[in-house]
Amino acid sequence: MSETNAPVNEAVAALLELQEIDRARDRLHERKEHLPQRAELADVEARMAELTGVIARVQRDADDLMREEKKVEEEVRLIEEKIKSEEDKMYSGKVINPKEVSAIQAEVEMLKNRKAPLEERGLEELEARDSLMEERARLDEELRSLEDEASGIRAKITEAEGEIDRELGAEDGKRADVIPKVPDDTLELYEELRTSKRGVGVGALSNGMCTACREALSAVELDRIKRRAREGEWLFRCEHCRRLLVFQ
Ligand SMILES: [Zn+2]
Repeated sequence: MSETNAPVNEAVAALLELQEIDRARDRLHERKEHLPQRAELADVEARMAELTGVIARVQRDADDLMREEKKVEEEVRLIEEKIKSEEDKMYSGKVINPKEVSAIQAEVEMLKNRKAPLEERGLEELEARDSLMEERARLDEELRSLEDEASGIRAKITEAEGEIDRELGAEDGKRADVIPKVPDDTLELYEELRTSKRGVGVGALSNGMCTACREALSAVELDRIKRRAREGEWLFRCEHCRRLLVFQ
C-alpha cells in the first residue's frame, strides 16, 4: 500500500507516535477553549452588563427628578417675584385706597398659598433624588468590584493559556521530529482520516482488535492481514472503521 525507504518498524512506531502527539494537541486545544475560567468570566460579565443597565435606569430617574426640581424652582421664583412686586406696590405709599390694599393682601396671600405646596414638592423631589444618587453610588461600588473580579479571572485565563501554549509548543516540536519518519502518502491519508474520523486516523492491531474503534476483526480478515504482513506489507485498513491499521 505504501512505499517507504524508512524501515517498516520505524514507520509504524512513528505513525502511532504521531497519533498520540496529535491527540495530545487536540486535548490541549480543547482544554484551552473550555477553560473553566471562561464560563466564570462570562457569568461576571453578564452581571456587569445587567448592573450597567440598572445604573443607567437609576441615573435616568435622577435626571428626570432634577428636571422636575428645576421646573418647580422656576415656578417658585416667578411666584416670589410676583409677591415682591405686590408688596413693593403696597409699601410704596402710592396705594392708599383700603379696598385696593386688601385686594393686594388677598393676592399676596393667594400667591403664598400657591408657593407652599410647590416648595414642599421640590423638597420631596430633592430627597428622592438624593436617595437615588446614594443607590447609584452603591451600584457603582458593586460594578467596580465586579470589574476587579473580571480582571482577576482574565489574568488567570492568560496564565492558563500561556501554560497550555508552552505544552502545545513542546508537542509541536515532537511532531516536527516524527513527521519525516512517516512516508508522505501515508501521512496524507492519515491526515484525511483524522479530519473525517474525530481526530483518530490510525489504530493498532492488538489482540485481534482495532485500538481505534475497539472492534474485533473477523478471523478471515486477521488471517489475510497476517499473511500479507509476512509478505512485508505493514499498513492495513480496519474493516470496521476504515482507519489505518498497523501491528504494534
Ligand atoms: Zn477500527
